[in-house]
Amino acid sequence: MKTAIHWFRRDLRITDNTALGQCASRAAEVVPVYILSEWTIAHRWTGSHRQEFLCGSLEALAKNLSAIGGRLLIRQGNPIEELVALARETGAGAIYFNRDPDPFGRAVEEKLLQAGQELGLEVVACKDICIHERVEVLTGSGDPFRVFTPYAKAWAKLPKIDPVGRPRKLVTPGHVKSLELPSLATWGLRAEGRIVAPGEKAARERLGNFLGNALASYGAKRDFPAADSTSRLSQDLRWGLLSTREVFTRSEKRVGELPAADRSNAMKFISELIWREFYLNILWHFPQVLDTEFNPKFRGMVWPGSQENFHRWEAGETGFPIVDAAMRELNETGFMHNRARMITAMFLTKDLHLDWRLGERYFLQKLTDGDIASNNGGWQWSAGTGADAAPYFRIQNPWTQTRRYDPEGTYIRRWLPELRDVPTERFFEPPAVGRLVAQYPPPVVDHALAREKTLELFAVQKEMVGS
Ligand code: FAD
Repeated sequence: MKTAIHWFRRDLRITDNTALGQCASRAAEVVPVYILSEWTIAHRWTGSHRQEFLCGSLEALAKNLSAIGGRLLIRQGNPIEELVALARETGAGAIYFNRDPDPFGRAVEEKLLQAGQELGLEVVACKDICIHERVEVLTGSGDPFRVFTPYAKAWAKLPKIDPVGRPRKLVTPGHVKSLELPSLATWGLRAEGRIVAPGEKAARERLGNFLGNALASYGAKRDFPAADSTSRLSQDLRWGLLSTREVFTRSEKRVGELPAADRSNAMKFISELIWREFYLNILWHFPQVLDTEFNPKFRGMVWPGSQENFHRWEAGETGFPIVDAAMRELNETGFMHNRARMITAMFLTKDLHLDWRLGERYFLQKLTDGDIASNNGGWQWSAGTGADAAPYFRIQNPWTQTRRYDPEGTYIRRWLPELRDVPTERFFEPPAVGRLVAQYPPPVVDHALAREKTLELFAVQKEMVGS
């Protein structure tokens, strides 16, 4: 074939990119394109941290493509119209892309396949975003898994594909029009803090550092937000700066090299990669989770919390230091540690009695790694409505969580400088009277009372649905 298009989506890399590799091996000329979505559609579900990470990663991708002779084209608008127009302009006979498991991406893919049939254009969709997708991991009776542990066991048993390299050379036709690379101004945004370095090279450095220095102790340290002991690869996997195959294969190899005593710590990391695929699997089989509770018993649940408390939570001004530290980390960096995500999500739903969908949306607006599958899974898990073997009445106490996971108060002091001089033990229980310091608010609720109220709300719901 003379010319083919590769449509970049959440696969912003040239190494081990399934569709790009196939496209480059079949066509003499490759037209690599990224199509910017229209902000009016996207704005409730993203924000400046993630868009800034996207801009930096596209810039890096453009450089990487140019180093092997290619040229990244930027277009904006409806992807079907843009791709069809580009095929006409370049005389391309095929469009390659990596499949997206979310319902919005899937709907576009179906339309593109249909347009391809009508216009005699070959449309090739590849598996890339996960190691096992769609109907590859099913129960013995052919149903999708609804809980993690049996899913993970079945996932682990399936054969894995090794990563492949990168195309050595690409030729992109010279005459094709492109927009400039986007900047935050493209969407009328401005930077809100300091995000992690974007691009494939920075992602590969993070992976190398993590495997070399932190994998061996991952299981033991991963729950301590102050320890900086997790991989920090979530935005790289979200945007496909690294392939999941590469992360998995290199981690497995490294596990084999570690002393036997460290291996179970390191295997916990592989288990987290499977959590990511589990939630992608849930979204694939149960796309309704984006609108409603995964567990039908909790559909229509009433969340009577106040708007005012939602704003306190967003701003990190609840008077619960661990919650506020986490929200400020999120607002300033576009990242929040996993333990802190669980604490803040459970706090919003089970202390402030606010609908998990509000928090889900806020996280997606702020996170550089914002991913609709993992985010929805994490929120529903925390709210007690999700794909979870544990019951809804698991309610974490933010004070005891602090004692256990931030025992020196390091994380709290890092993000709440106004509490720098407060003795650590005071972070482990509500202030006996008033507030911790004058410039910090008193706790917005009494956790013990809020917990009782949550149990009541769930009991009323269970009565209503008769279970
Ligand atoms: P590590 O601990 O190093 O884990 C390695 C990789 O495994 C991560 O990069 C991620 O891809 C995956 N992973 C780890 N934990 C989970 C998990 N619980 N569920 C799914 N995948 C996981 N993760 C996102 O990538 N995007 C989100 O939008 C997102 N929203 C979340 C919302 C809530 C309420 C909760 C509780 C969790 C959410 N997570 C999300 C999962 C998890 O918090 C992040 O993946 C993790 O904190 C990222 O840090 P890391 O890369 O250092 O993770």
